[in-house]
Amino acid sequence: MTEDKRVTRLLAPGPAGIAEAGAMLRAGGLVAFPTETVYGLGALASDPRAVAGIYRAKGRPSFNPLISHIVDVAAARRQGRFDSRAERLAEAFWPGPLTLVLPLAPTASVCDLARAGLDSVGLRIPANALARSVIAAAGGPVAAPSANLSGHVSPATPAHVLADLDGRIDAVLNGGACPVGVESTIVSLLGDKPRLLRPGGVPRAAIESVLGESLAGAEEGEASQPVAPGLLASHYAPRAVLRLDAEALRDGEAGLDFGGRFAADGAMVLDLSPGGDLAEAAANLFSMLRALDAAGAARVAVAPIPDADLGEAINDRLRRAAAPRP
Ligand code: AMP
Ligand code: MG
Repeated sequence: MTEDKRVTRLLAPGPAGIAEAGAMLRAGGLVAFPTETVYGLGALASDPRAVAGIYRAKGRPSFNPLISHIVDVAAARRQGRFDSRAERLAEAFWPGPLTLVLPLAPTASVCDLARAGLDSVGLRIPANALARSVIAAAGGPVAAPSANLSGHVSPATPAHVLADLDGRIDAVLNGGACPVGVESTIVSLLGDKPRLLRPGGVPRAAIESVLGESLAGAEEGEASQPVAPGLLASHYAPRAVLRLDAEALRDGEAGLDFGGRFAADGAMVLDLSPGGDLAEAAANLFSMLRALDAAGAARVAVAPIPDADLGEAINDRLRRAAAPRP
């Protein structure tokens, strides 16, 4: 399925529009909303089909981890594990243009696809009150990258959003022009040393002064050592060796199927989408790779996946997962 034609509505920024946006998100829809940085393209972060819709609408050729937007620190603590550094940064800069990358909490609801399969989660409480109302109305974290086609500039007005995404998303909540226009600063607290992954709306010096230590760069240290072309060590890579474009299972292989091609014959086979739906396949990709690992599969045959639509991002991820590792 490559067609996903939608009627895109422009919602007014009052209680009715917010309620409508919340209902659309809870139903798995895609709603663009203003933040203090740029317009975000939101989907319910716990719903992998909805999150697959984000990648499809943007035409993203790969799966990046998305920032999950939450309403308050209590909600953030359910998603990420806070240490004292996270507590201090949240206290100082939330709500605001700071994203914290934290270890995933056991109570987290943000789905694998929104995290690109990582055991970490990117969290932010936006300063824009309209954005927080939408997130509250959605009833859970809202995953949202910028609301533009992949490769285009980030949108600062509803007109910019519609120019790229009209007919591809369910609604835009009209909050006028975004004031900051710069994206959020991203700080990773996954290691001993806090790391600046991306400069943005909150200056480095302000963060360092709250932490009482300097931020390492994204390029320093273990988290960004490439272990295969385009593959970061921090990215989830399956232990199993993958054989791509497999027409049939070989002896001893488990299978990651698409469209019901493999005859299982006692082997473990998981089907990304028995009906051949690429959005369903995207939604299942990371959790099925994990499940095959958890089952101890050493070698996995992966069925061919069409390279159109979301298939491009799925194939990109599978190629990275299949690349030789030291
Ligand atoms: P954006 O392009 O504004 O949607 O921000 C996405 C960026 O946030 C990603 O490219 C990562 O740099 C960062 N990010 C979000 N979540 C995570 C995560 N779980 N682990 C590491 N980085 C993350
Ligand atoms: Mg962007």
